[in-house]
Amino acid sequence: MNHASTRILKKIVPNQFCVKAQFGQIINMYQRARASSARIFGLMDEPSRLAEDPGAEDLTVGDGDVVYDDVSFGYDDETIVEDVDFAVEGGETLALVGPTGAGKSTVLKLLLRMYDVDEGSIEIDGQDVRDVTLKSLRRSIGYVGQSSYLFYGTVRENITYGTFDATDEEVREAAEAAEAHEFIQNLPDGYDTMVGERGVKLSGGQRQRVTIARAVLKDPDILILDEATSDVDTETEMLIQRSLDRLTEERTTFAIAHRLSTIKDADTILVLEGGQIAERGTHDELLDNDGLYAHLWGVQAGEIDELPQEFIDRAQERTARIVEEADTDDD
Ligand code: ADP
Repeated sequence: MNHASTRILKKIVPNQFCVKAQFGQIINMYQRARASSARIFGLMDEPSRLAEDPGAEDLTVGDGDVVYDDVSFGYDDETIVEDVDFAVEGGETLALVGPTGAGKSTVLKLLLRMYDVDEGSIEIDGQDVRDVTLKSLRRSIGYVGQSSYLFYGTVRENITYGTFDATDEEVREAAEAAEAHEFIQNLPDGYDTMVGERGVKLSGGQRQRVTIARAVLKDPDILILDEATSDVDTETEMLIQRSLDRLTEERTTFAIAHRLSTIKDADTILVLEGGQIAERGTHDELLDNDGLYAHLWGVQAGEIDELPQEFIDRAQERTARIVEEADTDDD
């Protein structure tokens, strides 16, 4: 608060000290709400501009089956996602892989209804996402992303964000499941340690585990993992992978991954290229196919010498395009 507003407060309110404290709290709460709604959910960082159908009912999730029926979508005139058609059975894991810009995030933004499909439909347990309340839709979907943002608050508050009535015991259990309890205990004030901007700085892997604990506690019917184990050392990655395996078990999960080793056990892998499904199958089926997935797998396994020239040409073209786009953005 600046001096002028403090002076005004002093004049109009006798007990300005108390009001100042409340004012501070309100500003703090506002800032937290703003930061959390704007930045926690990587994918969800674009506010939905969609109107809700006045007759919309809450989504009720049973098995958690998700069906994309010939979905096409473009942010403007250009089609970004074309004829995407798949079904995920409740409890299964579907992985989306493919080059940067292929449309993986866009496909999942449509599930969260950040945008509406131009053609086709998306249903969760037979309910079109356009017919249900946005609140119930977002409540049913948990998100663990690569830009694991923590707001300024205690570790406990960061874990309970989105779940208001959790007990300390439940928070601790969620942290244990996320392999986060041990490091949290070693922080200066344990679960009461202030983190986020101005707070104790946590490493990328620690932040990620706090957000995984948040997802464990929220216990959503559907989970989106957005390359959840990037940017951490091998040991931390192992811990995170272990906690994610627990989290995704028996829960419909969508995983976007660049490192294919993290999704090779997925029930179905969709390979997207240019907004379309280029291939689909299990890891073994796709390796047998010897298509884009098999080549990407080869690159990551270090078999660069064995790649067909056509694949290298396409990769070079794509990289050049991305560099060009970045240059244009800078202008
Ligand atoms: P991926 O997740 O596979 O990297 P994205 O779904 O993020 O791909 O992007 C697919 C295409 O959509 C890219 O060409 C990207 O530039 C474009 N795109 C993504 N978000 C927006 C947006 N908010 N407005 C316009 N174009 C977008």
